[in-house]
Amino acid sequence: MKQIILARYGEIHLKGGNRDHFIRALLNNLRKRLKGIATASVQGTRIEINKYTDERSVVDIVSATFGVVSLSIVAVVELTPESIFDYLKTQKINGRFKVNVNRANKNFPIKTMDFAPICGGIILDNNPNAIVDVNNPETTISIDIREQTYIYDNVISGVGGLPVGVSGRALVLLSGGIDSPVASYLAAKRGLGVDFIHFATPPYTSDLSIEKIKTLATKLETFTDKSRLFVVPFTEISKAIKKNCDPSYTITIMRRFMIRIAEHVGRKTGASCIITGENLAQVASQTIEGIASNNFCVTCLPILRPLITFDKSEIITMAKKIGTYETSIQPHEDCCTVFVPERPVIKPNIKKAIDEESKLDIEKLIIAAVDGVI
Ligand code: ATP
Ligand code: MG
Repeated sequence: MKQIILARYGEIHLKGGNRDHFIRALLNNLRKRLKGIATASVQGTRIEINKYTDERSVVDIVSATFGVVSLSIVAVVELTPESIFDYLKTQKINGRFKVNVNRANKNFPIKTMDFAPICGGIILDNNPNAIVDVNNPETTISIDIREQTYIYDNVISGVGGLPVGVSGRALVLLSGGIDSPVASYLAAKRGLGVDFIHFATPPYTSDLSIEKIKTLATKLETFTDKSRLFVVPFTEISKAIKKNCDPSYTITIMRRFMIRIAEHVGRKTGASCIITGENLAQVASQTIEGIASNNFCVTCLPILRPLITFDKSEIITMAKKIGTYETSIQPHEDCCTVFVPERPVIKPNIKKAIDEESKLDIEKLIIAAVDGVI
């Protein structure tokens, strides 16, 4: 008997012509993430994970891989009734249980209707505290009869979604807040590989805020492939805006610069879209007019806002689940309060935003910032 992990992919089944491509992508992602600790191969409609010693780590990695809907730790037993009986005799079962038999291999000599009660009987004989309850079992023993027999009593949830990379690559505007890491997670969940861009305003923001961003980017790699982080020096641009433009438009114009720079960097990283953590009406500047003016006439790349309609409490719940919340709430400011005006315009007028920023040498400021990216 050997032990393996079987990973199931769900939605991938539905993707018609793309199916093979998606399964290959999932397999490649699993192989990269399990490199040196386990092997992975496609077996029928599942992926079999083999040759590992550290089961806990493998389960953690596989269950956090987008595209995996569920997994089970499975005993692989020879395809004879005797081998299956011998294995069942070793199982310790307490309380209510049922046996599920799936006889996919019709060459197996005993029919499902006959085999399930025999297996249940063996468990009863060897476990004085076990009772059969097919309607409300505490333990379900699944016996999946194929080219070998796969036996398991556990189903662990995976994160679902689509394999990272099948939808292309995105560049995420990653601030130090709660929202943009969750937006990154959701983008990756739909198959986007993610790289990150962060705008820093030293010396008004500290090195610790960059460390925080690095920690967030690393935590997100639990779910994605290797990502790159670009840190853009944003102090000169922020100062120029503060000095020359209507203060109530500072945030709008800063955002427009961020998006322009993201497009420059994104073109180099192969990004086909930009992601932000923007959310409708969460703060005063996140009105439809505010959000629309952030990118109007500044980029050809589509901007996706995965959190646009979420409640803050829903975002916080997700941030806690994916493990970014504790880092996000550390008190290192991401955008310097020096540059944030007291009364930002709530419904910016796009024409006014363009008029205000035309007081600046936009191209020159952008080239200098892009040159300074680390
Ligand atoms: P978050 O929780 O992600 O910081 P927020 O609720 O604070 O979001 P805003 O400050 O309005 O919202 O920022 C909206 C979005 O703009 C952020 O989610 C992020 O995508 C982007 N953003 C803001 N500041 C920065 C920054 N300094 N660097 C990179 N992206 C930023
Ligand atoms: Mg923020």
